[in-house]
Amino acid sequence: MNYDHIVVRYGELALKGKNRKYFEMQLKDTVKRKLKPFPKVTVTKTRDRILVELNGEEYKPIIEKLQEVFGIHALSLALKAENEIEAIKKAALKAFEELEPNPKTFKVSAKRSYKSFPINSQELNHHIGGYILSHTDNITVDVHHPDVEVKVEVKDDGTYISCLTFPGPGGLPVGVGGKAMLMLSGGIDSPVAGYLTMRRGVRIEAIHFHSPPFTSERAKQKVVDLMQELTRFGGRMKLHIVPFTAIQKTIKDKVPASYSMTIMRRMMLRISERLAIKQNALAIANGENLGQVASQTIHSMYTINEVTNVPIIRPLITMDKIEIMEIARNIGTYDISIRPYEDCCTIFLPSAPKTKPKRDRANYYEQLIENIDELIDEAIENIEVLYFDEAKKEQDQEFNDLF
Ligand code: ATP
Ligand code: MG
Repeated sequence: MNYDHIVVRYGELALKGKNRKYFEMQLKDTVKRKLKPFPKVTVTKTRDRILVELNGEEYKPIIEKLQEVFGIHALSLALKAENEIEAIKKAALKAFEELEPNPKTFKVSAKRSYKSFPINSQELNHHIGGYILSHTDNITVDVHHPDVEVKVEVKDDGTYISCLTFPGPGGLPVGVGGKAMLMLSGGIDSPVAGYLTMRRGVRIEAIHFHSPPFTSERAKQKVVDLMQELTRFGGRMKLHIVPFTAIQKTIKDKVPASYSMTIMRRMMLRISERLAIKQNALAIANGENLGQVASQTIHSMYTINEVTNVPIIRPLITMDKIEIMEIARNIGTYDISIRPYEDCCTIFLPSAPKTKPKRDRANYYEQLIENIDELIDEAIENIEVLYFDEAKKEQDQEFNDLF
């Protein structure tokens, strides 16, 4: 293997004017964190990209790790040469010969940002293209649809040559867009909603409503395992587990079955809002999707949403289930989500909740729960907090103390 560098490109960031420095810093920190398991690798930031020097490490697992870093647009495997034409030509040929299967057509795209280099981009294309043609057989140049594009970038510190580019996950670096509370159930949708929210640069803390003994430790374990998967994209994260049994029992006692789902959702949102404010989060994210189930009609959303002014991010709102499942598979949460478990919502709730609940009815039934504020206070006071990190599967006290 000849390649010695990975060039990390971050298209969208370049557009973000003043914030750019901060974005780049966040991205570099994340890249460094992701590559900790590869001690030989070094990460440096240049004017318009991040450079990963492999120092003998295998490139594949590193590319895979970097494909989980939001903000990265593309990853090019590169060979570095001195800023000297003979060295550049030789390196270009070497990079080209490395390709499998052998391409039939190619083109060279040279870019000279180091302006003291005596040969301009156009001339470089000719020199390098000619050199490759004269040292290979059965290969032609095709400037419109080449099998391979040999990218040659002459920079101040050397020339980077790459023939192989991998897509990044796109989006923005996690952390540049503030923080949201993710309502995380054990289902398929909410982890995907978390992933998509993070993709737009928003850091996440999760909140899970747990109703023991009606929901088991196994159900909680699912949420823990989902969090662990999400750390691949979000780094360090917190999960707040809210004891929800007392509230659910009260709803069952006081509220007609047809409205219990609506009131339960309103209670979840109230608690999520309180926690968001406490944790300096400016939004709540969830996995709601229009039309899937009774609680997710537009009427229902209207009535549930009445209890909060905090923005609710619903990344899945217009997606088809198939699309959501595909993302879940790609990000590694699907297999965890489909493990059987008891959902706190299904245990207490009627088989036929109202699909068009009304705000005035919901308010009326909530007045029947006299101690509603105390129930909320108590739930919040008894929250259990768990901490997650990609590098650390088990939670232990020493690790928790770091937060
Ligand atoms: P999911 O697949 O995420 O469970 P769902 O299709 O089952 O979603 P609902 O049960 O109506 O839909 O839940 C809608 C959203 O409410 C969920 O995506 C999640 O964000 C939130 N939610 C539901 N139950 C819980 C819970 N026990 N703890 C935290 N959030 C929850
Ligand atoms: Mg669910």
